[in-house]
Amino acid sequence: MSYDAIVIGGGPVGLLLAIELRLTGLTPVVLERLTEPDQTIKAGAIHAITGDALNRRGLHDALAAGQQQTVKEMLRLFTGDDTELDDAAAEAAMKKFAGNAPRGHFAGIFKLDATKLSQLGVPTTGTPPIVMVPQPVLEAALGQRASELGVEVRHGCELTGLAQDDEGVTVSVNGPDGSYELRAGYVVGCDGGGRSRVRKLTGFDFPGTEPAITGHQALAIIEGAEKLARGWNRTETGMMVYGPSPERVLTVEFDGPPADREEPVSVEELQASVRRVSGTDVTIKEIISATRFTDNARAASTYRIGRVLLAGDAAHVHSPFGGQGLTLGLGDALNLGFKLAAVVRGRAGDELLDTYTASGIRWPCAYWPHTRAQSRVGTGRGADVATGPFPCAALRTRRAGLPASGSPRVLATG
Ligand SMILES: Cc1cc2nc3c(=O)[nH]c(=O)nc-3n(C[C@H](O)[C@H](O)[C@H](O)COP(=O)(O)OP(=O)(O)OC[C@H]3O[C@@H](n4cnc5c(N)ncnc54)[C@H](O)[C@@H]3O)c2cc1C
Repeated sequence: MSYDAIVIGGGPVGLLLAIELRLTGLTPVVLERLTEPDQTIKAGAIHAITGDALNRRGLHDALAAGQQQTVKEMLRLFTGDDTELDDAAAEAAMKKFAGNAPRGHFAGIFKLDATKLSQLGVPTTGTPPIVMVPQPVLEAALGQRASELGVEVRHGCELTGLAQDDEGVTVSVNGPDGSYELRAGYVVGCDGGGRSRVRKLTGFDFPGTEPAITGHQALAIIEGAEKLARGWNRTETGMMVYGPSPERVLTVEFDGPPADREEPVSVEELQASVRRVSGTDVTIKEIISATRFTDNARAASTYRIGRVLLAGDAAHVHSPFGGQGLTLGLGDALNLGFKLAAVVRGRAGDELLDTYTASGIRWPCAYWPHTRAQSRVGTGRGADVATGPFPCAALRTRRAGLPASGSPRVLATG
């Protein structure tokens, strides 16, 4: 079997890119080191532009089901009633909710006036601004679509080596049946965040800012959860988010980065953080899924070296404030997909691929200040955002555009 492109990483960005390539008639293969789809709690929402694009790819029903699931969780949180809602009741609740849906938030401030977005230069489309689909649900839908289109996804296959020449790229892979090599015209690294092996093996740089905060996000069985204030809350010691489901907590503490990002989050660690930030004595009985996060902001200064490209978190990382990482990465896949297809089919020269890095929507200056400013609004330490290595004066601009806010207690998923 010969492949036009090898996609490393079967997360949401890798899967969408493979779908895009397949829709043009190319034959991609996806190599994913996990043996099963990832169920870790990560993104809870994507933004309107990406939602629109996925709807056009035939994923409308899957996104609607994901959103409906989130609404059911929110109702369970607000009513304390564990009874399963039937779809009609959830649909009615969703319509009611949609009328009052948060327009997105900035550092947990939900009083953003949508009419001010255009004053800040943000295009508004009139589409609901947030599609509340949990990342595992989205990944399952993308996996299903990829399978329907005949995309080969090889689970349990980890990239270990990579070498490119003028004609193509050869990758070394550790798979369930041992090591093997695979070759294709192009390789795209969709292998996630700080540890992208494609980025490191190819020699991409990854400049940016150091982490300064420690965040935890978890689904957990919580004893005494009624003591937690629902929604986003600023406290004396950080930010505390409870919801949209009765099991979901998110804490942010502003006293430095995590000591260790590799170790799994323990019950004791999560409980200590929730207690510190919420000021309650809740007990974490069991962790269903948990992650640690921080706010380092980095991006490769080019997303292409020869026949190797980067997309998603492999190309850029920033804090999850405002829920933008996945949206941004899916945008990468949509932009790169048709360009790579045109080049492989000989309809465009490979210089078209250079426009992929340059496309404005993904250029880090457009996003980093936005997310970094949110960290600093949390701490009140804003100077480095306004004058740092990418001096976009974001904090000043964003603050100038924000309405005054009290203690935000509005619920959202981002
Ligand atoms: C707490 C938190 C909340 C967030 N909330 C939001 C939100 O609401 N909205 C939003 O838009 N974004 C959000 N994000 C960001 C979002 O989760 C990421 O941007 C998204 O996961 C990036 O997708 P990806 O496919 O690029 O990378 P990943 O999801 O990291 O997928 C990479 C894949 O590559 C595989 N892989 C890695 N190395 C190899 C290898 N050597 N060989 C083969 N496979 C490999 C991995 O197993 C993985 O499956 C949040 C992030 C966090 C931490």
